[in-house]
Amino acid sequence: MLIERTHTAGELRASDVGTKVVVQGWTQNVRDRGGVAFIVLRDRYGTVQITVDERSPEAAREAVKKLAQEYTIQVKGEVVARYQPNSAMPTGEIEIVAEEVEILSATRPLPFSVSGPVDAGEDVRLRYRYLDLRRQELQRNLIMRHKAVFAVRRVLDAQGFLEMETPILTKATPEGARDYLVPSRVHPGQFYALPQSPQLFKQILMVAGYDRYFQIARCFRDEDLRADRQPEFTQIDLEISFSTREIVMRVAETIARAMWKESRDFDIPEIPVMSFHESIARYGVDAPDIRFGMELSNLTDTVVHSAFAPVAGAIAAGGIVKGFVITGAAEATSRKHLDAWTVFVKAYGLTGLLWGKVASDGTLTGPAAKIIAEGESSAPLLSALGAGPHDLVVIAAGDKGAVNPGLGRLRVSVAKELGLIPADVFKFCWVVDFPMFEKDPEGAWTPMHHPFTSPRAVHMDWLNTDKMGDILADAYDLVCNGSEIGGGSIRIHSTEVQQKVFAAIGITPEDQSKRFGFLLDALAHGAPPHGGLAFGLDRCIAILTGSESIRDVIAFPKTTSAQCMMTDAPSEVPLRDLDVLKIRSTAGDA
Ligand code: ASP
Repeated sequence: MLIERTHTAGELRASDVGTKVVVQGWTQNVRDRGGVAFIVLRDRYGTVQITVDERSPEAAREAVKKLAQEYTIQVKGEVVARYQPNSAMPTGEIEIVAEEVEILSATRPLPFSVSGPVDAGEDVRLRYRYLDLRRQELQRNLIMRHKAVFAVRRVLDAQGFLEMETPILTKATPEGARDYLVPSRVHPGQFYALPQSPQLFKQILMVAGYDRYFQIARCFRDEDLRADRQPEFTQIDLEISFSTREIVMRVAETIARAMWKESRDFDIPEIPVMSFHESIARYGVDAPDIRFGMELSNLTDTVVHSAFAPVAGAIAAGGIVKGFVITGAAEATSRKHLDAWTVFVKAYGLTGLLWGKVASDGTLTGPAAKIIAEGESSAPLLSALGAGPHDLVVIAAGDKGAVNPGLGRLRVSVAKELGLIPADVFKFCWVVDFPMFEKDPEGAWTPMHHPFTSPRAVHMDWLNTDKMGDILADAYDLVCNGSEIGGGSIRIHSTEVQQKVFAAIGITPEDQSKRFGFLLDALAHGAPPHGGLAFGLDRCIAILTGSESIRDVIAFPKTTSAQCMMTDAPSEVPLRDLDVLKIRSTAGDA
């Protein structure tokens, strides 16, 4: 018979000796030594040892014979001191001598070990997610997630923010991805879009006078997934009226501080601010990992007279030459590594990697030496790089759109591979002053953030002129350990400017009113200046828990091909359901 538990499995200590208790949970381990059986009982609070021996009644001893791993049981018994305490277990000073062992639920044979090391592929683990979720690591992650979110709610509430919900069935909210569409039964042929973010609703809440909004918001983006993306993910989304970018950044820092303090007891020091251009110049990417050095040096001027074809050709075509130094790595780095790094940068459009080793007398050998003409000294190049004896240098020449990301990502990959990144360190920085627009692959201007971001006031007049590429946005990203964990902007709050930006990215006036008429109308009704930001919650928790994948911090994640292995979604639906929606599938057509 189910009775109320008196204690959880993690809380009993020596001071509880002599207490009669009732505990419930899963049998993590059952060892029957003929006459004496030990059960490790687990719940989400911890584990406790149950002993069933001659002190236990016959019925309890019989029940133990039927047990296997991961059965659900209830145990009534008395807490006694252990002869041999187990210091590895928080409850290791005691054990419970069973008076009653009741099986509440049995299990089929397990597809993988729940308590031991991971011994199954991720697909199987996702199919049996309820078993995977019993694992200590995942329980720890999800508990940390709860605590972090709770801390965020507290700090935002204390600063006057209102938690408000916005629709899931809505109209497109462009954030650079494809929309998930939901057909309307009532309006055949018409569709809702799932929000890529609550962006437009939160702005409209500002127009409506709510002043400070936040939401732990689910966002949906139909894109080809990379390892750290999910088709639905969670943002800590906020918006502030009458706000400068400094005000938003200050509030965002209170959120980051609360999460890192609550989850890791880590005090975030003052967060440096860097411009987008500086970040690209020094790190090659816009989310710089500043936990280690190895910054990129621009060598274009130093090697401008080089006759070496890859370098001379790149410079003649308006490209750049950059490189970085791996201190003391000349001797230890094998050809195999260097070849692998060359393959790595090719994925970013570089034709190759010019590496070079600096000998103890300062001479440079390897492909990088070819940059220097016969008889000339390598000293200027090495000094521009900041390289000395025993150092390894890697250099790339080409278009800046390939050199920067190629070397920038290589820098991080090499540092990881060589163990150069300090463990358990969190380094934050703000990146600001992003370009407002970038060219898409077809050569058209697209917004680098979303099209509701305000250009910096001083660049407003450059909209729709030949200075489009120079316009800076009033946008900011918060970066931690080389990952963008949050981003936002000051918004456009004038209908006229919003129309200009839409026009700049090729949205015709008809399309503007069809797709965003409600926003343009709202902005024309006394919209306060406003700005905000959203944190990627899953990413933050992955960093806080040290998880490789954000799937390890989401209870029911999807695979990289957007499937739920447990429920088998997405799946076909009966034809009559499509008929009701007046939709015909062409999926099976030739
Ligand atoms: N809506 C933006 C995003 O999803 C964040 C923001 O600008 O507040 O990235």
